[in-house]
Amino acid sequence: MIQKIKGTMDILPSETPLFRYIEGIMREEAEKYGYGEIRTPTFENTELFVRGVGDTTDVVQKEMYTFQDRDEGRSISLRPEGTASVARAIIENGKCSDPMPLKFYYIISCFRHEKPQAGRSREFFQFGTEMFGSESPASDATAIALAASVIRRLGLKNIKLHINSIGCKECRPAYRSALVSYFGAHTDKLCDSCKSRLDKNPLRLLDCKNPDCHDIAKDAPKTTDHLCEDCHSKFEMLKSSLDAMGIEYVVDSSIVRGLDYYTGAVFEFIAEGIGAQSTVCGGGRYDGLVESLGGPKLSGIGFGMGLTRIILAMREQGLDNVSEAKPELYVAALGERAQVAALGIVERLRREGHKCECDIVGRSLKAQMKYANKIGARYTLIVGDSEIDSGKAQLRNMDDGSQTEVSLDNFNLA
Ligand code: ATP
Ligand code: MG
Repeated sequence: MIQKIKGTMDILPSETPLFRYIEGIMREEAEKYGYGEIRTPTFENTELFVRGVGDTTDVVQKEMYTFQDRDEGRSISLRPEGTASVARAIIENGKCSDPMPLKFYYIISCFRHEKPQAGRSREFFQFGTEMFGSESPASDATAIALAASVIRRLGLKNIKLHINSIGCKECRPAYRSALVSYFGAHTDKLCDSCKSRLDKNPLRLLDCKNPDCHDIAKDAPKTTDHLCEDCHSKFEMLKSSLDAMGIEYVVDSSIVRGLDYYTGAVFEFIAEGIGAQSTVCGGGRYDGLVESLGGPKLSGIGFGMGLTRIILAMREQGLDNVSEAKPELYVAALGERAQVAALGIVERLRREGHKCECDIVGRSLKAQMKYANKIGARYTLIVGDSEIDSGKAQLRNMDDGSQTEVSLDNFNLA
């Protein structure tokens, strides 16, 4: 028996309606905010992610599914996230000189070789948005408002928005040295990854999940105390914009985001009660990304929202009861002649837009009626030789048991 790859999932028809419901809300909200759907390839040149996500990140160093392509021997990777591909696509398709801002959304699967657990898988589904061409905090506020409105429309409570600013090229160096000297005094207690992060990317120490590192990080210098004038005033404007939009938030200096390309505002939506993987949405500003991929200087702001984590939160709050519409009609057939007639009847009604079923496995009448009940058909119709001969049959309303005589070749469903 061949089994699925560890960390992947089969989503069966009992669960797809919930996925589709959530995806529908994501699409509707994104389009309301003026974002258009973009579809990019599932795999890209590895170099795109090395440059776009950052070669000091865990995603690139430990988690990418990378392989040599067959013919040209080049290195290819399954996308671990969506932002780098969208940035590449706008450069490659000449969109950088279009009127700004450019706004894109996507619902994709991403691939990361991580330790599977609740809310963390190796193929996972993400709703992502990217906006390019505005440096104003008004664009940060718009992106955050879109994420908040998806969460609101799904009916989710107990999800808090945490915001922070991690500064820019101007303020980062001073903050970086403040961090290095703070953590440098605690090296003996840091985990091995953090010891090496201290040289390469000290900001990442604030993000470490190891309990000892986490404890030390609590008293670390805060980015918000080291912002340059410009970053400071932008962060203040973001806060007042969120206030004006009626979006609640907390300022949280531990939010730094995992990927290298972030600058300025960063944020996460964190859910209570779904365990350790509680960040349902993470995002921020990435003003250097497009340029680092060979495009013009073009600022950006985006986020990724994990569908499985949203579903965990919906389950926790009893909001996951979404199911497929039930059939309107089930036609039970007695004998081969009736089965053929039944096919004709359901096909006519399906063409008129109704959801209908008939027997195609040759069950007994009793078993067919049991089945009609099980699938929740609203009406049933029993067709045998005498019904075919007379052209008439009884349409039974399964809710109240009432019956109406209908003409087989032209009856309609209300
Ligand atoms: P985390 O802190 O949980 O590792 P991340 O910072 O790596 O997340 P991003 O790259 O920002 O996550 O991805 C955006 C969102 O995608 C996350 O907030 C989360 O909801 C979801 N996500 C990320 N990795 C996974 C995964 N392995 N399985 C399921 N969902 C994931
Ligand atoms: Mg991660």
